Amino acid sequence: MIFDAHIHIFPDRLAGKALENLSGICHSPYFTDGTLSGTLDALKDWEIDGGICMHIATKPKQQTSVNNFAAEIQKGNLFCFGSVHPDAPDALEELQRMKELGLKGVKLHPDYQDFFVNDPKLFPIYDAASSLELPITFHTGWDPYSPDVVHAPPEEMAKVADEFPRLTIIAAHLGGLNRWDETEQYLAGKENVYFDTAMCSRYGTPEQTLRLIRKHGSSRVLFGSDCPWSKSSEEKNFLESLPLTSGELEAILYQNAAELLRLSR
Ligand SMILES: [Zn+2]
Repeated sequence: MIFDAHIHIFPDRLAGKALENLSGICHSPYFTDGTLSGTLDALKDWEIDGGICMHIATKPKQQTSVNNFAAEIQKGNLFCFGSVHPDAPDALEELQRMKELGLKGVKLHPDYQDFFVNDPKLFPIYDAASSLELPITFHTGWDPYSPDVVHAPPEEMAKVADEFPRLTIIAAHLGGLNRWDETEQYLAGKENVYFDTAMCSRYGTPEQTLRLIRKHGSSRVLFGSDCPWSKSSEEKNFLESLPLTSGELEAILYQNAAELLRLSR
């Protein structure tokens, strides 16, 4: 089994426009049409068996519809993380509702949602997610949406991990996109933190990626691509090109995600 733990899918009526918009912001091509059916077809072509789809509420009022869509498309081997907006007055109630909907976690994007990860206004959300046992995936490190301000630097993410030991954090992009040395210094090795490997083939080097995986521990690294912004197959080939043991590779490609999602093995 191979699970891609960092996928984006949009409602059919929004997908075309969303991809055009985001592609302009990120100066990035895209490799699916962004819809559910288009993504499932692409994953099949790339020989990926399932994964986790990340949803982001970019406005406070969006969180309900975003989570309803996430719940609607979650089936089979496709699992979804919903989202709350830190400025939504009902963010904590929405977390409870997400749990009831069966969503598997929360995605927060500090750049698109305009917050710093260690801002105390987020702390009630971290507490609630810990109690509900909902892991939180953060975009960490640099982002082309706000290239001059890093909202989730590894050092601040590490403080959150220490302050909220019961919170399971997934620090996307190997703990901090383009902030590899800081990730290694501050965040790698934290017990309650997973890294995903999204975009490593585009932004990282084989040496850095291997070093960070080993320093953090391969039992807490999830294979992810950031599809449609990268092809799952290319990200997988990149991982397979590293001198990892077959056990490490199996853990990263599937077992760690299965344990996180509590799937039977
Ligand atoms: Zn992403």
